[in-house]
Amino acid sequence: MVERIHLSPPHMTGEELALVKEAFESNWVTPLGPHVDAFEAEMCEYLGVKGALALSSGTAAVHLGLVLLGVGPGDPVICSTLTFAASVNPVVYLGAEPIFVDSDEETWNMSPEALERAIRWLHAQGRRPKAVIPVDLYGHSADYRRIREICDLWDIPVLEDAAEALGATYGDRRCGTLGEFGVLSFNGNKIITCGGGGMLVSDRADDLERGRFLSTQAREKVPWYEHRQVGYNYRLSNILAAIGRGQLKVIEDRVACRRRIFDRYVEGLGDLPGLSFMPEAPYGRSNRWLTVIQLGEESPVTPLELMKRLEERHVESRPAWKPMHLQPLYRGKAYFPHREGYSVSDRLFQRGLCLPSGSSLREDQQDLVIQIIREAMGA
Ligand SMILES: *Cc1c(COP(=O)(O)O)cnc(C)c1O
Repeated sequence: MVERIHLSPPHMTGEELALVKEAFESNWVTPLGPHVDAFEAEMCEYLGVKGALALSSGTAAVHLGLVLLGVGPGDPVICSTLTFAASVNPVVYLGAEPIFVDSDEETWNMSPEALERAIRWLHAQGRRPKAVIPVDLYGHSADYRRIREICDLWDIPVLEDAAEALGATYGDRRCGTLGEFGVLSFNGNKIITCGGGGMLVSDRADDLERGRFLSTQAREKVPWYEHRQVGYNYRLSNILAAIGRGQLKVIEDRVACRRRIFDRYVEGLGDLPGLSFMPEAPYGRSNRWLTVIQLGEESPVTPLELMKRLEERHVESRPAWKPMHLQPLYRGKAYFPHREGYSVSDRLFQRGLCLPSGSSLREDQQDLVIQIIREAMGA
């Protein structure tokens, strides 16, 4: 049996089991429970935010955040194009209309220039976006000073999709706390995991209370089942929250690991012509959730060829996200490239490749990945 090297597998500490056992022994095998409350409180303290709502997924957190911002049928919502579909699909659940915005070259995150053009384009039609959803791509914060400046000017709320960016910072603030609402994910491939889960965080305590109500089927506070609004079954289970608590204890260690892995890739591959890395902007600190390389014109292999070479040696890699404006699902939606006639995300999709970056990746495994890439690049 050859050992397969995965992109970003779960990495347990062992401590999670004791917490899960405690949940079993107290028979709190339910959605909600003491571990859920504690997980929320611990996350608030870690992030420096007033409220947190533990949910069944990051996607549910995006959905509920949009509901709380009052997004409804026909509303324009501005989204990063270079992202995972889960940051956009909830816009469509609500019958709203996604408008896509490109990345900039310096950070690969939402281009403030393109964002401004999108808002002006809507304004010319007498419309205003109901929300903007910047994504902190691959664990790197978007440029919130510039995004907030634009959104504050037009009075548009920001829903920060920090699903990939727990542990990263923007200035002295943690990712997840830079918008009116922030979204976290604890899916199996993220920097910490519950096996599946998410969180909506905010300083708006009242809104989060309403979110709590909506996420538990919107049951009115009377003895019988009384409903005035459509609710959701979106809360996190107590068992999964126990796992999340064990994981949150080691978040700083996980960030340090992933950053070290990134640095070792730079040491091992940084001299290759035609190969470059996702940059890090001076305003923040990435958690380096995934190390992403870009293969330029001089590279003897394309990302898909390199992916195949890695796969032959049982190493998993993935192209960078396919932008939403190129997805058949979103064909025909408005799209604003970084500059007129020049799309950064198209190029990143064609040239980008994500390398194994899990915090449990051993040095000998990483050395093998580096060696395969060097061979493929003819070095
Ligand atoms: C993972 C991810 C999500 C969705 O999170 P789930 O917990 O898997 O639903 C949303 N947005 C981005 C950018 C993600 O990477």
